[in-house]
Amino acid sequence: MKIFTSIAQWQSFRKAIQAGPLGFVPTMGALHPGHLSLVKASLEQNALTIVSIFINPKQFDEKGDFKAYPADFTQDLEQLENAGVDAVFMPEAAQIYADGYRFKVIESDFSQRLCGAHRPGHFDGVLTVVMRLLNLVRPDNAYFGEKDYQQLQLIRDMAAAFFMPVKIVACATVREADGLAMSSRNQYLDAGRRAQAASLYAALKRSRTASEARKILTGKGFDVDYVEDISGRRLAAARLGNTRLIDNVEI
Ligand code: AMP
Repeated sequence: MKIFTSIAQWQSFRKAIQAGPLGFVPTMGALHPGHLSLVKASLEQNALTIVSIFINPKQFDEKGDFKAYPADFTQDLEQLENAGVDAVFMPEAAQIYADGYRFKVIESDFSQRLCGAHRPGHFDGVLTVVMRLLNLVRPDNAYFGEKDYQQLQLIRDMAAAFFMPVKIVACATVREADGLAMSSRNQYLDAGRRAQAASLYAALKRSRTASEARKILTGKGFDVDYVEDISGRRLAAARLGNTRLIDNVEI
């Protein structure tokens, strides 16, 4: 498995790739089986699979959240090597944002709702980094999880709006045995909150309406940011203490 930390080295490797298709899985590391399901889909559907690990500072709306974000690159690389990934791209923020973040991708409608309404600038950061990474990697197929459903929709729409030559592939949410969607942030939960956290998925699935789900969650001790039904899905974000959890289900 090749590891690239410099953009120049990555680009010369990229230039030499002839056999396709090329699959790409962008991540922020702290890899878990949810990430690995994207990697597996890419390995099955492509001749080469590239994974990026980049904790994107621009998508964190709270400084403390960025500083505390879990990072264990040794364990990440071991998992990717075992999975059979061809190359890992781990660029430095100074290289990715050499322009000082003067240039951004801004979506002015859907990105302002749901998570965007509670996390100012979050989706500008997400779309900008995904655009930059896709331009650097130039994959045929790029893999994103349905767990971050609003993000997935926005990335799909961006790729279409800018005629980007990439297929955006959606992968189903991978869950713990009790239904909790796997997330790097789950490790912040202590045992009591971890047990409570499973109610998020249960409430979304079992309730008949979004407002019923909100009531259930509030009753279970969640601080609810939103529960909304949008084109056949029920999406929610809710906090347990300082940990913000998101999830969505088909309705
Ligand atoms: P992150 O490292 O959190 O930025 O996630 C990288 C990619 O993995 C994103 O496309 C996420 O939607 C996806 N992902 C994260 N958790 C899960 C999960 N539990 N199931 C499926 N995909 C996931």
